[in-house]
Amino acid sequence: MGRRPTRRAGGGLARGGQKGGFKTAFDAEVVREIEALIAPGAADRLDFEAVEIAARRRALSVAARAVQQRLNADTSDHAGPMLQCHCGQPARYAGRRDKTFTTALGEMTLSRAYYHCEACESGFCQRDAALGLEGTSLSPAVTRMTGRAAAMVSFEESHELLEELAGVEVPTKHVERAAEALGREVAEDEKHVVDPLPLEEPVAPTLYLGMDGTGVPMRTSELEGREGKQPDGSSKTREVKLCTLWSAEGRDEEGTPVRDEGSVTYSAAIESAASKDTDEEPSAFAARAMREATRRGFDRAERRAVLGDGAPWIWNVANDHFPEALQIVDRFHAKQHLSDVAKTIWGAKSDSHTPWAKARHDELDAGDIDAVLAALAVHAGTVEEARQCVDYVTTNRDRMKYAEFHAAGLCTSTGVVEARKFAARRRSGRAASGPACTGPWPAPTPSSPCAAASSAAASRTSGNGGPCSAPRHDLPPPPESRCPGFRRSRRAVDSVDWRPLGCGRAADGSRNRAARSPPTTS
Ligand SMILES: [Zn+2]
Repeated sequence: MGRRPTRRAGGGLARGGQKGGFKTAFDAEVVREIEALIAPGAADRLDFEAVEIAARRRALSVAARAVQQRLNADTSDHAGPMLQCHCGQPARYAGRRDKTFTTALGEMTLSRAYYHCEACESGFCQRDAALGLEGTSLSPAVTRMTGRAAAMVSFEESHELLEELAGVEVPTKHVERAAEALGREVAEDEKHVVDPLPLEEPVAPTLYLGMDGTGVPMRTSELEGREGKQPDGSSKTREVKLCTLWSAEGRDEEGTPVRDEGSVTYSAAIESAASKDTDEEPSAFAARAMREATRRGFDRAERRAVLGDGAPWIWNVANDHFPEALQIVDRFHAKQHLSDVAKTIWGAKSDSHTPWAKARHDELDAGDIDAVLAALAVHAGTVEEARQCVDYVTTNRDRMKYAEFHAAGLCTSTGVVEARKFAARRRSGRAASGPACTGPWPAPTPSSPCAAASSAAASRTSGNGGPCSAPRHDLPPPPESRCPGFRRSRRAVDSVDWRPLGCGRAADGSRNRAARSPPTTS
């Protein structure tokens, strides 16, 4: 007896016909394709690389054809003459429409029931929503691959990698579009999913919040009208600000706190940290730092410290939003500052700047700020940089009590933040090197999926529960753990059960992806 077409709410798929028969036919077709490539007795004369690539292409194309046939044979997404549009008005069935998608198997043309809403002057296909193809021509797997690649390399390089590694042709422009869409999605997710650290999760006795800014190169169009430090007043970069949270309960041989592996999370964006006393809302960056602190349970740590390079905006954010936290100038920065001054005083080529700087570094380590200031004062009258450094040390002296901090077992270095900044520059430099790679680069993380999202986009490495959940690693987790579009787990699938997938739009117009009905066979 034949199979009755099954009707269910939505664009799900009916179970297919004889599985065994299909499998045999499928295997036979793949074998035929491969045999056509390799003539008998020709093994030793083969260009093996060409054969493996060609064989992959043919096997995939057989598979693509099979999947396409199966999907198109299922017309259960036709749910009657009318369907409610998301606007609440009825949408009229307007026949099946073909659309070609780029999938991991190659191009696939799917025929979907199309409903048109006169009120919206637009239409929709339930099947697209059910299959995760809404508003895109890239399949979920290709979207994932694209996001992954674009987070690592430029769009142009992503396009090349996808073709070479996956045999998938995604034009550079589409890589850009997909990456930017993912970036926006991730950024939105970061803003709205702020689950505090669950109470049952322990918090390290001391937590550190590092804040820093770094310039990243931008394309010219992103910099129009922005003041910068170039001689003509223009700018070549924009500042990414990042906040990093970590714990440092471990100690090295010398008893210096070292950051705990896996404890580092961060969040970054091209955002302002400026705020006026009259502002009721925190600046965009301060809000970001607060969200990240909330996720990490920063306020639950017995001891909290904010580390920064001494830039005033950092202490403003700290004073306004983390007033109870101890403030520490990153020791590396402070020493670098003194080394730079030494070079200005003595000349970079002289032998004198190194011992002078070394003496200041030792004074800093010993907590002798007065000695540092006295040594600087000698040159403050003649060397502008020395005078500025006096101001810097004077302003920050309470944040530079390194001997005290060390005795209290506190971490005084933002090495973590520095590493992130390095990653930011490296990433942006690489992205900028590709002519086709355009757009701001908001997220200084080598594996951020929002490689080129809008300037407001952002990224964080890992979360604590919620849709952004991911294990904490030093390196950011793969995009799927952060991006709502990537949430589904990836499993090896040997056989696909053409079970109804539920649909993107339930009959009442509401979205409902979770609805999975049991397979209906007869
Ligand atoms: Zn409508």
